Amino acid sequence: MPSEPAGHEIPLCVPEVRGREWVYVKECLDSGWVSSVGSYVDRFEREMAQCVGTAHAVATVNGTAALHTALLVAGVMPDDEVLVSTLTFIAPVNAIRYAGAWPVLIDAEPVHAQMDPALVAQFLERDCVVTQGVLRNRATGRRIHAIVPVHILGHPCDLKPLLALARRYGLAVVEDATESLGAEYFDGEVWRGVGSLGDLSCFSFNGNKLITTGGGGMICTDNPQWAARAKYLTTQAKDDPIEYVHHEIGFNYRLTNIQAAMGCAQLEQLPAFVAKKRAIQTAYAAGLADLPGLRLLGSAAWAQSACWMPTAVIDARVFGCGSRALLQRLQACGIQTRPLWTPAHLNRPHAASPRVGGAMAERFHANALSLPCSVGLTTEDQQRVIAAIREASQ
Ligand SMILES: *Cc1c(COP(=O)(O)O)cnc(C)c1O
Repeated sequence: MPSEPAGHEIPLCVPEVRGREWVYVKECLDSGWVSSVGSYVDRFEREMAQCVGTAHAVATVNGTAALHTALLVAGVMPDDEVLVSTLTFIAPVNAIRYAGAWPVLIDAEPVHAQMDPALVAQFLERDCVVTQGVLRNRATGRRIHAIVPVHILGHPCDLKPLLALARRYGLAVVEDATESLGAEYFDGEVWRGVGSLGDLSCFSFNGNKLITTGGGGMICTDNPQWAARAKYLTTQAKDDPIEYVHHEIGFNYRLTNIQAAMGCAQLEQLPAFVAKKRAIQTAYAAGLADLPGLRLLGSAAWAQSACWMPTAVIDARVFGCGSRALLQRLQACGIQTRPLWTPAHLNRPHAASPRVGGAMAERFHANALSLPCSVGLTTEDQQRVIAAIREASQ
């Protein structure tokens, strides 16, 4: 039976550029301040710090560079080990390797697909030992120095137990908040912005993130020395601005003023963007909740999710088809969806890494599909997505 005509394409997630982007970018071009120094870089850093709830912010060329720098600033040394989620976009795992360190891949918890604090506890208690004041992995002998909780899909990890473990074992916490700008976490007393709870946090302004600068990133921290060190490392570690003396190997990880200008305009719209993302999540929940064999990842009691990417988990036997068959059927209707990432431990460069579990991440990878969620998604288009999913389940 031929299905109805496909209609226009509905992309997974495209930027919304309807604010003061043109005004601010034009101001850069007219003034000649187009490169890596300029008032918009300072302003974007100031406003991001305010938005996240930290004292300082340092702009970077992208989120991966932010993660690399944050790990160095946190004191990660070559041959250290760093705990990180295995169910993530690969960037934080690669960033650990850029620092010369090794990831310890932690499985997801079954409900919200975030880093499982129970497995972190199990690893630190069972598989590590303190010798001469240094926490080491028993199996590899390497020092454990930091933990990178990745808040995937707009939803925070359960940070309270993770922070307690980090404190007990003396680990630095670098939040990968690249997908979760605008999300909040309830620590038992107050709601706090994601990215304000760890020692350092990282954001991305890639095209599909909550806000975009085309490409860009940010490091946030309350520690003034760490902020200064992040600025130093991202600007070629210049120790003398006249003689160009360098005591360390730095990086050119700077964000340009043009990009920062776009960032300032995007940040003004963040509350509206998050509100729209949450409305999209609510509409999917209303339109799909009764479908047997489909579960939409929801919000934990500790979370106000930014709902960056609404994601359905399919039970193939009950639903009628699997996640990849559903992806194909939706694609045939012009609707773009995406599975969750292949877990880091199944990617060749990281396959030999120490890990704790992994089966849950593999299950999410096999069964989950993220749904169209552009801020500009119309009600009609979203109803088309819902109708197409309902049709596929029959
Ligand atoms: C997008 C993303 C990053 C950083 O991405 P860039 O493209 O380098 O800005 C890092 N971690 C996660 C989980 C991401 O989704």
